[in-house]
Amino acid sequence: MEKKQIPYKIYLQENELPKQWYNVRADMKNKPAPLLNPGTGQPLTLDELSPIFCEELCRQELDNDTAFFDIPAEILDFYKMYRPSPLVRAYFLEKALGTPAHIYYKFEGNNTSGSHKLNSAIAQAYYAKKQGLKGVTTETGAGQWGTAMSMACAYFGLDCHVFMVKCSYEQKPFRREVMRTYGAQVTPSPSMTTNVGRKLLEEFPDTTGSLGCAISEAVEAAVSNEGYRYVLGSVLNQVLLHQTVIGLETKAALDKYGIKPDIIIGCAGGGSNLGGLVSPFVGEMLRGEADYRIIAVEPASCPSFTRGKFAYDFCDTGMICPLAKMYTLGSQFIPSANHAGGLRFHGMSTILSQLYHDGLMEAVAVEQTSVFEAAEMFARIEGTLPAPESSHAIRVAIDEALKCKETGEEKTIVFGLTGTGYFDLKAYESFNDGTMTDVIPSDEDIAASLARLPEVRIR
Ligand SMILES: *Cc1c(COP(=O)(O)O)cnc(C)c1O
Repeated sequence: MEKKQIPYKIYLQENELPKQWYNVRADMKNKPAPLLNPGTGQPLTLDELSPIFCEELCRQELDNDTAFFDIPAEILDFYKMYRPSPLVRAYFLEKALGTPAHIYYKFEGNNTSGSHKLNSAIAQAYYAKKQGLKGVTTETGAGQWGTAMSMACAYFGLDCHVFMVKCSYEQKPFRREVMRTYGAQVTPSPSMTTNVGRKLLEEFPDTTGSLGCAISEAVEAAVSNEGYRYVLGSVLNQVLLHQTVIGLETKAALDKYGIKPDIIIGCAGGGSNLGGLVSPFVGEMLRGEADYRIIAVEPASCPSFTRGKFAYDFCDTGMICPLAKMYTLGSQFIPSANHAGGLRFHGMSTILSQLYHDGLMEAVAVEQTSVFEAAEMFARIEGTLPAPESSHAIRVAIDEALKCKETGEEKTIVFGLTGTGYFDLKAYESFNDGTMTDVIPSDEDIAASLARLPEVRIR
């Protein structure tokens, strides 16, 4: 049979788009461990979760058995504005590398927020609206999640209150203005509007904030205001579920041309884009239908998978959030100032943690200067200016393609290009100026942080 010529961009027609999200937990024999109430050490129940999160989202969070969730029509309508995202055959990159490998990337930066985070933001806003809430509260570090949530809330006419880590608030005024343009209220954290914030400012008046503190403030604002709930942009099972739209589209596009990937690569911060991309493929592995190499890429400055411990830990620095069993560096671990803000989380999705623990995934840690070398090369050859986070996946895709060049193997490599880097030009500046450094935590640093993991006895 003659092989179909594969176009530079594989698009799906509207009738080929996924109508359901896929819950990989349904096919996992070893389910991810449940979230625990830090007070009681017992698995969190729907009743305990629902004062914090929207009720439907709590159900999704706790459901380990339902394989498919219908995507509500209102969300499918919103997805039409920027989906399907293109699956691109990186012909130019292949040629530049001189590799026999076939490289594809799924590009999620094709919307104003500039990343995949909008896929879950719109779902979370929809369920908040459907529950009759007035609005939501959240935190943002680098700003991508806050932007995505602002857009989603504007669409459904919800209030959106974003606590933005103070140093980002000051360093990234343009991110802040995008959020305000979409109607969000943006407060630098720590702030005087919450107990947590006031207490911290009293103790440390000059603090520039942290993600952990912003989370604590956003949760407090949600539970103390009638008609508000808290939303989170990664790590949670529900977020990973919504992000499976990435993997389902990727699989549909590949199937259309009879392409079977050998290697699937994604960057891993809290694990939502990677989990979303690989879920349908991992499902096939779990059901014994296919085999793939799956590679998570993390920064060497925050190596949760490769140097962390699989244990129960707090999801936040403030130690008020639930305990999750995950690969963690310890909730008190402070990663050095890596420019990929979206990858500076001490823990990891419980789903991906379990899959990694069970040998279904590999992980590699890469240093940021080599990441930016790959980012620069990609920008010049494929045209798109990648986000620093996404560039971790580019780095390893290039490395794998170069291995194929040595061995002459014609492997098919797919990677997730999660977003664009227009708000990260400070990072590009330090790379271009030659002032970027690689800071890798010592074994002692990590051991000290892991020594402070909470003691959990599961009753
Ligand atoms: C937030 C973010 C990430 C990392 O988050 P995950 O939940 O691990 O996907 C990666 N890339 C971009 C562009 C981001 O904004």
